[in-house]
Amino acid sequence: MAIIGIDLGTTNSLVSIWRHGRAELIPNSLGTFLTPSVVSMDKDGTLWTGTVAREKMHTQPERSAASFKRQMGTSHDFRLGNHIFKAAELSSLILKQLKLDAEAYLGELVEEAVISVPAYFNDEQRFATKQAGQLAGLKVERLVNEPSAAALACRNQTGEDDSQFLVIDFGGGTLDVSVVECFEQIIEIQAVAGDNHLGGNDFDMLITEYFCGQHALDFESMTMSEQNLLLKKAEQCKRELTASQAAMMNYLYREDELGLFLTTADLVRICAPLFKRLEQVVFHALSDAGKTMEDIDQIVLVGGTCKMPAVQQYIGHFLHREPFLAGQPDEIIALGAGIYGGIKERQSDIKDIILTDICPFTLGIGIIDRNNARDHIMSPIIERNSPLPTSKSGFYVTTRDLQTDIGILVFQGESMHCSENLFLGELNLTVPPAPNGQEGVVVRFTYDINGILDVEAENRHGDVVKKLIMNEHIRMDNQELEQKMQELEQLKRPAREQAANQLVFSRGERLYMELLGDDRQVILNLLNWFSGVLEAGSPAAIAAARKKTDDTFNYLESKLYGGV
Ligand code: ADP
Ligand code: MG
Repeated sequence: MAIIGIDLGTTNSLVSIWRHGRAELIPNSLGTFLTPSVVSMDKDGTLWTGTVAREKMHTQPERSAASFKRQMGTSHDFRLGNHIFKAAELSSLILKQLKLDAEAYLGELVEEAVISVPAYFNDEQRFATKQAGQLAGLKVERLVNEPSAAALACRNQTGEDDSQFLVIDFGGGTLDVSVVECFEQIIEIQAVAGDNHLGGNDFDMLITEYFCGQHALDFESMTMSEQNLLLKKAEQCKRELTASQAAMMNYLYREDELGLFLTTADLVRICAPLFKRLEQVVFHALSDAGKTMEDIDQIVLVGGTCKMPAVQQYIGHFLHREPFLAGQPDEIIALGAGIYGGIKERQSDIKDIILTDICPFTLGIGIIDRNNARDHIMSPIIERNSPLPTSKSGFYVTTRDLQTDIGILVFQGESMHCSENLFLGELNLTVPPAPNGQEGVVVRFTYDINGILDVEAENRHGDVVKKLIMNEHIRMDNQELEQKMQELEQLKRPAREQAANQLVFSRGERLYMELLGDDRQVILNLLNWFSGVLEAGSPAAIAAARKKTDDTFNYLESKLYGGV
């Protein structure tokens, strides 16, 4: 049975499959590869995902959610009308959509998937991603780090078996930089560095702030719809600057037609702090891998933000090297995940590549700080950038006379102070009373291929406690999972074929909001006409009508966002 590869992105998700000796992207019901990671629910409970939901984000923001990957593994609640969801649940709705798209495309049931996650995702975030897959009815064969998937795909594209890559993945919400070595059949990630809060969205935000500054607008006091629309305008302007040297950003704020002329040079100036942060992450990755640019054969640019010429030039400039663009940067990870699906399936036409991932952060336990009894000092057991799977142990002794209980606090992170790292869990083991330092425990950490941590502690008398690190507040057990799955199953999800027609209405409504006067009347008439065709027309007539509405909307859109 087919194993699909999924890039579950903050902004966009894609699905692919290894077939006929290559990884193929699978189109969604609109015929495109990028499915926006957005969910929206109508008043009557109808659930929309992808492009339709992204349009509805503007017309019903209080019933829509985007960028939920940023909250993966946290207890953050997203409210869509009367329903409350966690990020993993919203992600499962996207995954389910991709599963249905793949099934329609392949003509068979799909029950297994390889899903990519940012290398910097911590234990909670990885676990939540696996659960999202389960909620969508997918057995998650493997979580693969996004840079590993990118390296796999690049290696396939360049055909160069042995080389050293610097993969820079700049997406909508995250940045991952990794040093990857391909040698014979082994792809080894040597180091990763990243920033979970740096991506294309931040460019949009800085352009928005600049726009507000120029027009003395207070972003915070705007309604959610106004904010979303302004951010969308900023994003559109940024994309315009990918295609040309200058762009006009127009925004109708209440009664005022506001405009701003921006050049690529302005963009670089406004977003300078982001470029600086990008540079730091790149050097961090190189230094962790013990490499310099001399050792790197190729710089690979991945992620939608790498489409920006300003980003490409900046990278080329500070690394003194022309980067390599691996086809469409925003498709490369999905292709890699698809290739990995093929490897997992052991398809005979694919080389049996071994992909070694690394643990992107340090895992350790907290020990009492003699200078500050209330804080704990981190004692690393598995250091960041260790190859996976890995199993390491440390020995810890009692610190008080007659101590009978040793508490083991498990943390993840790079700070010396546990209070600044992520607390993962706790386990306790008893020891016989003795003078301090005489009794102790061996703590073994086993970090599996998917980045899930298993902790085991053993005292000198053979007593053992084991724990799969869980944060019970966030994680669901099997029964809860089953129940949640049924709840999600009950949501009203329209048939795939309806998305294209619904998109006509949701796009029309969004444009109506943005435009004024005669243009609004044009939209109204068009939507009325389209409703009539939908009721009476043949499939061919409906498709032709969709084409006509698309043409008109594209024209109206160009009036709004046209270049200079
Ligand atoms: P993610 O991995 O976060 O899902 P993607 O790799 O799909 O994200 O990248 C999405 C980001 O790329 C968005 O911030 C989007 O604005 C940006 N982007 C996509 N296309 C372009 C373009 N042509 N020019 C500039 N930015 C772009
Ligand atoms: Mg991505």
